[in-house]
Amino acid sequence: MSQKHNPDQLAVFDNNIRARIEGIRQSERCLWCKNPNHPLKAKGLCSHCYRWDNAQRKLFQEVSRLPAKTARDPYAEVRRQLKIANEAIDLCKIEGEVLEDILDRTDSRSLERAFDALSKRILGGKRGSQLFDQNTSYFYDFSEMQRIWLRHLIGMLLEEMNRKSRHKRAFSSWLHKRNAAADAGAPAK
Ligand SMILES: [Zn+2]
Repeated sequence: MSQKHNPDQLAVFDNNIRARIEGIRQSERCLWCKNPNHPLKAKGLCSHCYRWDNAQRKLFQEVSRLPAKTARDPYAEVRRQLKIANEAIDLCKIEGEVLEDILDRTDSRSLERAFDALSKRILGGKRGSQLFDQNTSYFYDFSEMQRIWLRHLIGMLLEEMNRKSRHKRAFSSWLHKRNAAADAGAPAK
């Protein structure tokens, strides 16, 4: 059933979204991931970020007590786990910045990119990328507020998925950086 809205109703929708966004900005949110739906655990962090903070601190203490690295490092695994924890924390913070930026502004291009990212996560890179290519024009008719809210909802969906696969994503990110450094001839970090 289709329903036409007059300009007055659209203005009401925009105002409702504005109020929701203001509510999010004023709510107590995790310092790192900025997710408004997860209560704070300790240190201003949600339970997800707090777990990583805890893991990182323990691994850091463990690694700082280790002897200097040798060619055949028997402690390679614990050193690697620390790097993955660092990477996971960076990802939490980056996602928080993205969620925060969305609330300021979202143009139709970044809305398309968000749909693209979502479809790739659900369908895989190859099939997912075919769905949202070059469809930006459909988003021009949305008001700025509607674009922001849509982008926010997609951002929240993506972040919930990222939380579940944090370790895997942090590992891939670490591996990617390590290989890039090796290709550039820099010593592996
Ligand atoms: Zn968090």
